[in-house]
Amino acid sequence: AAKDRGRRTFALYEAEMTANAAHYMTRSLELRRGLENGELVLYYQPQFDGKTGEMAGVEALLRWNHPTHGLVGPHEIIPTAEKSGLILEIGSWVIREACTQARRWQDQYGQKLRMAVNVSVRQMQQPGFADSIADQLAISGLPAEDLEIEVTESMIQDEISMIQTLHDLRAVGISLAIDDFGTGYSCLRSIKSLPISRIKIDRAFVNGLPGNSNDVALINAILAMAEALGLSVTAEGVETRAQYDFLRDVPGIKLQGFLLGKPVPAEDVFTATIGKTKQI
Ligand code: C2E
Ligand code: MG
Ligand code: MG
Ligand code: MG
Repeated sequence: AAKDRGRRTFALYEAEMTANAAHYMTRSLELRRGLENGELVLYYQPQFDGKTGEMAGVEALLRWNHPTHGLVGPHEIIPTAEKSGLILEIGSWVIREACTQARRWQDQYGQKLRMAVNVSVRQMQQPGFADSIADQLAISGLPAEDLEIEVTESMIQDEISMIQTLHDLRAVGISLAIDDFGTGYSCLRSIKSLPISRIKIDRAFVNGLPGNSNDVALINAILAMAEALGLSVTAEGVETRAQYDFLRDVPGIKLQGFLLGKPVPAEDVFTATIGKTKQI
């Protein structure tokens, strides 16, 4: 009986696998179609200088304007894209689009603006990735110093080829940030030795400010470490006035979060805030 049960369970499992595989096939075909139809779009979330309150840059965040499902976020796009290999095409589209948009804004408003772009590990592993970035900068006319690439801690775990790619990117002149800092497995030694210029403190830590004493202790430790290593800091997920007040006086800090500005389509980013101090 146990054997039968085992077999039955396996049959169910197999059916589920087949259903998942079919679902996945459908999704990746859909995504390819969406990419080809121009349904992928970038939203931009502003980042503010803590001291002056001025907008210092934006982060490009992928969205899919799906004809029937509406606006779809990256958590529903990236896994399918990575599994199917479409991430390479999508990733280069993201970089091209983001650089072009940043340059357009700089021309339009005559103001320095840094564009931050997320990449996935498969892009970084692609031979010639740094060269392709250099090409996109040349084509768009965006100065290298105005592009920042965000990588996660897990992407750079002591993998030689990945570390070489970071150095190649740095040689192109762009800056590199570690995203979601503190949530991955942090190797402090590699942070010190890698050509990283910024850490983005994950919103999990910002969340508990200023009331949660553990989060306060962790944030203070991260800030002290960043200062000692000469790293710039961005805090993610600033949602409340109290969090903002806690963080804004940290020298050189940049702040990002729903309190200050949500991710919005390109046409909505600057109209309200460019050249003005964001007053909250
Ligand atoms: P991330 O790079 O850490 O981006 C920040 C995420 O936090 C964004 O979610 C943003 O909308 C959200 N966020 C910003 N401020 C707040 C806040 O105050 N409160 C809360 N609760 N959330 C906030 P989103 O747009 O859903 O992106 C999720 C993740 O998907 C990103 O996390 C990034 O890792 C990835 N991603 C986004 N665009 C791309 C892309 O073009 N390529 C790749 N490879 N990954 C991307
Ligand atoms: Mg990011
Ligand atoms: Mg993040
Ligand atoms: Mg994240």
